[in-house]
Amino acid sequence: NPALSKIGAQMSHLTGVRAIMKDIVETLRAGKGQEFINLSAGNPVILPEVEQLWRDCTADLLASHATCSTWGDPKTAVASEYGEVVCRYGASQGYQPFIEAVRDDFNRRYGLNLSNNNILITPGSQSIYFYAANAFGGYTADGSQLKKIVLPLSPDYTGYGGVTLVPEALIAYKPTLDIDEKANRFKYRPDFSQLAIDENTGCVIFSRPCNPTGNVLTQEEVEKIAALAAPYNVPVLVDSAYAPPYPALNFTDMTPIMGENIIHCISLSKAGLPGERIGIAIGDPEMIQVLECFQTNMCIHSPRYGQAIATRAIASGALGDIAETVIRPHYQQKFTVVENTLDQAMPKDLPWCLHRGEGAIFSWLWLPELPMTDWEFYQELKQVGVIVVPGSSFFPGLREDWPHTQQCIRISLTATDEELTTGMQRLAKVAAEVHQKV
Ligand code: PLP
Repeated sequence: NPALSKIGAQMSHLTGVRAIMKDIVETLRAGKGQEFINLSAGNPVILPEVEQLWRDCTADLLASHATCSTWGDPKTAVASEYGEVVCRYGASQGYQPFIEAVRDDFNRRYGLNLSNNNILITPGSQSIYFYAANAFGGYTADGSQLKKIVLPLSPDYTGYGGVTLVPEALIAYKPTLDIDEKANRFKYRPDFSQLAIDENTGCVIFSRPCNPTGNVLTQEEVEKIAALAAPYNVPVLVDSAYAPPYPALNFTDMTPIMGENIIHCISLSKAGLPGERIGIAIGDPEMIQVLECFQTNMCIHSPRYGQAIATRAIASGALGDIAETVIRPHYQQKFTVVENTLDQAMPKDLPWCLHRGEGAIFSWLWLPELPMTDWEFYQELKQVGVIVVPGSSFFPGLREDWPHTQQCIRISLTATDEELTTGMQRLAKVAAEVHQKV
């Protein structure tokens, strides 16, 4: 084996949920004959209407000839748009027609005044967090200061655990809990009495709606975080992988929030294109420029086929429509199945709390008196053929010892109604059994 550098050793480990996914894949493989209800998936469901949209956009791209001056000389018509996007290199910032489609759509929807300089296209949104974490976080040029990557509310997206080349720079904050005991519901809120954003902060990142909890930080909370960061020119990355206008996986009212130090980050992965890797960063041109240079060094530019078909879906309005009429209702209905089944099946004398389902494609269950770890509970559920994700993988950067981190599980809403119903009924039974064991 080759000797690894410090960074090499760090980056060649699987972090967070990716490590558990390995166990899940092995369980599914070993369990031939045993039917598992897999409620662990982060991969979105292939919805027929959504796939059809991408097929139609592909057909349109294949049929197109060089009629647009952006990609060829219309007089000679030698280059088709397909040839231009697939057979040639492009600009690091992204495919111009795509940037323009996003710019116009956001300006129209939200009354903004974005120009092309405000936008960067990346190969998936995960790469935006990687660029930002390492461009704004880590040791300063003279080595005198460690700039922190702040996650203001833990739990949050497990992928943030692997984005920095300087792991000691990542710091997450314990939230406060709004608990409605009677209803068995709760909601996390940022704990502003603890949250430190100051001259030692490099950047701030959080997902809204949140993977894994389905939480949507309120407009006031986001504005407060941005205001804390503004005096230090600290970029605040709002990970909007589930937000409107696409994929619009919000079940509560929310609008994208723009601001001088806010980098609004979009992903088309949950709008049906995870395989095409499309991320979009929208923000101040100087910050966007930093990320663009990082991208040029890393991978030159994002692939362009996906951008070309997404241009069509966004410019025609079809993507925004399908997000609201197909994608959102699909997952919202799944959340209803989970909460209704748990309400019926969970033992009355057992303390349990489901996070309010405000968006995303997961539900998040907290068992405050779980007499074992989340990992052990996950193993118990495997015994009855149900696979969830133990919650402890969703607290990257949290340094404090907090029992809560081992009392939660993530349930994916990508399963069928039947699977979710049966899965939650079995879970309720196992929960009752393990609580009685003590
Ligand atoms: N952010 C959140 C909150 C996610 O849940 C995911 C993927 O699941 C990502 C970012 C990464 O998405 P992408 O496919 O755009 O890299």
